[in-house]
Amino acid sequence: MPDVYLDHAATTPVRREALEAMWPYLTGEFGNPSSRHRLGEQAARALDDARARVAAVLGARPAEIVFTSGGTESDNLAVKGIALAAPRGRHVLVAATEHEAVLESADHLERMHGFAVDRLPVDAAGRLASLHPLLREDTTLVSVMLASNEIGTVQPVAELAAEAHAVGARFHTDAVQAAGWLPLDVTALGVDALTISGHKVGAPKGVGALFLRRGVRVEPVVHGGGQERGRRSGTEDVAGAIGLAVALELAEGDRVERADTVERMRDAFIRSVLAVAPEARLTGHPVDRLAANASFCFPGTAGEAVLLQLAERGVLCSSGSACAAGSDEPSHVLTALGLDDATAQTAVRFTLAANTTEDELEHAVLALRASLDALRGLATR
Ligand code: PLP
Repeated sequence: MPDVYLDHAATTPVRREALEAMWPYLTGEFGNPSSRHRLGEQAARALDDARARVAAVLGARPAEIVFTSGGTESDNLAVKGIALAAPRGRHVLVAATEHEAVLESADHLERMHGFAVDRLPVDAAGRLASLHPLLREDTTLVSVMLASNEIGTVQPVAELAAEAHAVGARFHTDAVQAAGWLPLDVTALGVDALTISGHKVGAPKGVGALFLRRGVRVEPVVHGGGQERGRRSGTEDVAGAIGLAVALELAEGDRVERADTVERMRDAFIRSVLAVAPEARLTGHPVDRLAANASFCFPGTAGEAVLLQLAERGVLCSSGSACAAGSDEPSHVLTALGLDDATAQTAVRFTLAANTTEDELEHAVLALRASLDALRGLATR
């Protein structure tokens, strides 16, 4: 059997339809959208079209979409950009389980710009019930992700955004992992800013977008020629923007049925894992979690060692977040759930996709049992 890829939260392959739509803008119609000639105008029209299509998926206006180089940049622009441009307040509130792109941006505001930053604690399932008691009258910005990259837990963003707005704070959500799985309607969510990333939804790496509600001012992070209405300078990645638009539309098109199918497969997989490894513990919320996420702790092992064993058996997954891979530190997300450092080091995350098959999952379960046995053997030797 070829490798079983169960790491779709780390990245996804580019969809053929996205690649085909991008191709002309990488070859014959390669113009710079700022050029004032035919090729440039063609590129500008293509960029407008991509912007309108991304906006439509989010229920936003085209002018509210800023194309960026990905989720990390969108998070940076939202957190630093909104806080620095805000006329009021010097306090920023982020969930303790945010992606590093949000946490490090908030830390930068604290270190370099004198903001006060608080991290909101979550419950044992990774949920945030309320912004209280940390929400303050001078809170400028709140950033809480829609769904976790590590444990898949979905946050009650609409309720949290309403709480933030009651004190006049802006609300940003990182929807990188939610895209393609949960509704992204920015009006229903009530958010002022929302981050998406291309490579998690079948578009290439290195392209993303930030929804910025009309009227929300932002201090640019990338300065230069004033593209993207001055909010993000740099020649736009026209082909990437088109790829993002196409992939996002396709993901939205079959989202409900796909999430349903994948969730059923995922639930069966969780049951099988717990059957062959009764010591395993599912991390994250049992119900309010992304359809494709099955993340566990395997007490008595090391997550990294399980990964290596699984990889030898042709099963590719990750130890939580691919972004922090290589670090020996326990995941800040798992410790925020209240797990001790040793248990947090035993995490393994499997993330499925619509084309994951039952055969692949069966193989993964057998490989997992064999991997745990091999490690136990090593431990008792
Ligand atoms: N936010 C979340 C929740 C993510 O999972 C990731 C990527 O893993 C990012 C942000 C960063 O996105 P990108 O890889 O496009 O910079």
